Order: sequence, then C-alpha cells, then structure tokens
Amino acid sequence: MSEILVLVDHVDGTVRKTTNELLTIARRLGEPSAVFIGSGEPPADALKKYGAEKVYAVDDAEIRGYLVAPKAEVLQQIAEKTSAGAVLISSSYEGKEIAARLAIKLESGLITDAVDVQAGDAASGGGPVTTQSVFAGNYTVQAKVTQGTPIITVKPNAATPEEAAGAGSVEQFAATVSDAAKAAQIVASQPRTATGRPELTEAAIVVSGGRGTGGNFEPVENLADALGAAVGASRAAVDSGWKPHSFQVGQTGKTVSPQLYVANGISGAIQHRAGMQTSKTIVAVNKDEEAPIFELVDFGVVGDLHTVLPALTEEINKR
Ligand code: FAD
Repeated sequence: MSEILVLVDHVDGTVRKTTNELLTIARRLGEPSAVFIGSGEPPADALKKYGAEKVYAVDDAEIRGYLVAPKAEVLQQIAEKTSAGAVLISSSYEGKEIAARLAIKLESGLITDAVDVQAGDAASGGGPVTTQSVFAGNYTVQAKVTQGTPIITVKPNAATPEEAAGAGSVEQFAATVSDAAKAAQIVASQPRTATGRPELTEAAIVVSGGRGTGGNFEPVENLADALGAAVGASRAAVDSGWKPHSFQVGQTGKTVSPQLYVANGISGAIQHRAGMQTSKTIVAVNKDEEAPIFELVDFGVVGDLHTVLPALTEEINKR
C-alpha cells in the first residue's frame, strides 16, 4: 500500500482538527504518513490516534523562518523518497500555495478545495477521486489527477475525524532548502487574537446573521455561544459595518462547510449560497416565507429572529 502524505496543520505543535480529517481521508487511500514541520518533539501521539503510521519530523529553523516555499521543497523531497500515492493538504491560503508550488516541482496534477475524497475503483485506474463545488456552487464536479502524484487540498469539515490507532513511528527527516526558497523571510509574527469561538472555516457549527439582524448581532452571538459555534455574516451585514470582512460568508468571503449552518435574517442570494451550500444541515430563520434561502434548507423557521433566537438559545442552555 502506498504512503499518503498529510501535511500537519498545527499551532505551535497542537494539531488542528483539519489534520485529523485529512488522516481520516488518507486511510481510505493508503497508509497515512504525517509530515510535521515545526520545532521540538512532533505530536506523534495525537497523530497516531487518527491513524498516522509514520510521522516525518522536520525541525529546521531555516524552514520555519521563511514563508511557504521551503515547505513545498520538504514535501517534494519526502514525496519523492517515499513514492507517495498522494499528498493531502488543508485548503487554507497557505495550504493552497504550498500545494501549487509542490505540483509544479513534482510535475503533478493538483486539485484544490475538495469537499470529499474517495479511493477510485481499479476499473478507472485507481487513485483518489475528489468532489468539488465550483462556479459559485452551481456545479458539483468529480475529478482525479491523471499525471504524477495527486496533490489535493481538502476543505475543513470534508470528513468527520474518526479515530484509528496507527503506529506513529517518528522519523527525523533532514530536508535541504534551496536559496530560491528563501526569497521571503518572516520578520515577525503575532498570534491571532483569541475570540473564544472556533475559527469560521473550521467550525462544526456556524451561526450567521444578515441584514435582518438590523445590526443587533446579540441574538446570533448568544445562539452561537450556546452551540459552541463560530459566527458568520452576510455581505449586507459586513457592508453595513456590523461585522468585519473576516466574518463574511460567500463568494467574496469565506467558504464554510460545517455540519450545521444556521442563517438568520439572510435572504439566500446566490453569492451567499456559494459560501455555505455544502453545509451538511442548513437551518434558516427568516420572517419572509418567500425568502429564497428556504429553497435550500433542511429546516426553516418563519419568524422574527429577535424572538426565535432568544427562545432557541434559552431552550439549548437548559439542556
Ligand atoms: P437581504 O438580501 O436584504 O436579506 C435580508 C433578509 O432578512 C430578508 O430575507 C428578510 O426577509 C430577512 N429579515 C428581515 N428582518 C428580519 C427579522 N427581524 N427576522 C428574520 N428575518 C428578517 N453576499 C454575501 O452574503 N456574501 C458574499 O460573499 C457576497 N459576494 C457578492 C459578490 C458579488 C460580486 C455581488 C454582486 C454580490 C455579493 N453578495 C454577497 C451580496 C448578495 O448578492 C446579497 O446582496 C447579500 O447576500 C444580501 O445579504 P442579506 O441576505 O443579509 O440581506
């Protein structure tokens, strides 16, 4: 069985949920191997819990001191050494840049923003088959890489992380970094300010508000906190200055694919749908029963969000 490389997404050695999702997907395709680029001991226990058979540890200040290019070189060297069956990377801005550089280095095909990855059948030549939502969500496409090592970036929440013990044997990997890869040095970095809520693109539950909030996001935020959810917003809410652009869900904002998306006072314009329609379960609260969002939902409540959300939050908090 070929090794499926998973680039570990972590914050100072703490593995993010997206990595567990990638390891879960990797197990469908072959033998998962995690590639940890960071300082100190690799988090082998956390990685083997989700099936990592091997953990390639790369601890090199030269790599960490520069932007993405050295990481692509590390992955190239490990992929070539192991004749990897595929490389899976999280669909973050950084992940996609690493993937693009890696694809050029390996002369391989690249698929970005997969919402699902399955093993292809032997009749179609094997290899991973991905599902993507494209053209603002108007088409769902299944695709596979036909040249080189498949490089795939996978959206957060594309899989439910499932535990499965792997060997987690650590191998220190001494990578070489070219001068060209050192073209952009990190001179300072600051951690993101913690909000106490999950990151929007990674959250299992997202509660969003639109123009219908009238600028009062309190009911939306209270419901989000009761559910342990991230808060999102429509562009109308962002353009009104009620939330910063980092909260915007949609074609020109973030794409989310949570287990549960709750849209409150949002009409359901195509540009908003583009950012949330791959959510597993969609709930909407809107006072207009003709609102287009109701065409998309699994559950809909026709009502005033300022009444419905506090009642819902109170009920959840009782449990
Ligand atoms: P509206 O369309 O005004 O809808 C408000 C809804 O709230 C209505 O359905 C109303 O019935 C309901 N409502 C009002 N009061 C209440 C109440 N008290 N309780 C319950 N319901 C109530 N939009 C995005 O969201 N994300 C994007 O990334 C994005 N990108 C765009 C890119 C382009 C190029 C363009 C042209 C547009 C883009 N838009 C985007 C804008 C998009 O077309 C819509 O204008 C926007 O999504 C509307 O936001 P909304 O649903 O909050 O507001």
